Amino acid sequence: MQENKPWDVIVIGSGPASLTAAIYTTRGAASTLILGGEKWGGQLMLTTLVDNYPGLPGVEGPILMQKMRDHACLFGGQFRQVNVEKVNFNSPQGKPFEVVSGGREFFAKAVIIATGAETLWLGVPGEDRLIGRGVSSCAPCDAPFFKERKVAVVGGGDSAMEEALVLVKYAKDVTIIHRRDHFRASAVMQQKVLTNAKIKVLWDTEVTSLVGESRLEKAVIKSTKNGSVNELALDGLFVAIGHNPSSKIFEGQVELDDKGYVKKFSKDGFQMLTSVPGVFVAGDVHDFHYKQ
Ligand code: NAP
Repeated sequence: MQENKPWDVIVIGSGPASLTAAIYTTRGAASTLILGGEKWGGQLMLTTLVDNYPGLPGVEGPILMQKMRDHACLFGGQFRQVNVEKVNFNSPQGKPFEVVSGGREFFAKAVIIATGAETLWLGVPGEDRLIGRGVSSCAPCDAPFFKERKVAVVGGGDSAMEEALVLVKYAKDVTIIHRRDHFRASAVMQQKVLTNAKIKVLWDTEVTSLVGESRLEKAVIKSTKNGSVNELALDGLFVAIGHNPSSKIFEGQVELDDKGYVKKFSKDGFQMLTSVPGVFVAGDVHDFHYKQ
């Protein structure tokens, strides 16, 4: 396919939503270009064991993503490991849509936005090195690895409550570490957490570093009230302080909500439309509720 000839579909992103979309478009005989980004593969590339992917229990995250990439290319999908710098969905001529990637222009009759969302991490010393080694951002993925272990969750929103409620089914005990003296989570979620005898809350506390050789061993924590420092022995720490949708390049091109998630519209039976007809959306870049 030549760059100046329009593709039937350009898929932007390379996580599970993108690659699943590409499997379906290529199986539907639509010529498909996947612009997967320099750091392709999305959040599963940061995971070690994945135990909840149907049919592949115990697969490593990066291996699963390579299988999905190969699958997406099996029926003719073209994968380019380059970032998208710019899109133009609103040119006066209308379609084809223009996508600029790696300094080159590509054109398509339809575009699927599937750029995902990035986990917000704490950014404290030790965290980067221990992600996948006791530090996680996904309790539904990793909770079963912490049976009868001591774990903590950082955050005070609905995600933190949810993570704690998943973890408590497996872990010996769960500590929520929150920087203020009250949660911002919905009342119903707070109540579930605060009435669970296995969940303890450390109010007014922040994590200042994470320590461990090959795996997480402890968190260094500090009171946000009086500055006192303590250590908390831990097998697992789940960071649940929010996500950032990867939607910067779509600003002014499709409608975004106030947090930057792509707004979804439905019309004529299509459920995954954006504000621009012919531009579709899939995965975490629009879905802050169900996530996986
Ligand atoms: P959120 O509501 O933005 O909460 C983030 C939490 O992390 C806040 O409590 C915040 O503390 C804390 N935080 C932020 N940065 C931090 C840092 N650097 N260090 C320590 N703590 C930090 O995010 P979310 O919980 O992911 O929820 C996002 C949206 O999805 C919300 O609208 C939520 O209602 C929705 N959601 C709904 C459900 C559900 O209905 N079941 C489940 C998950 C998410 P402060 O409170 O001090 O700011």
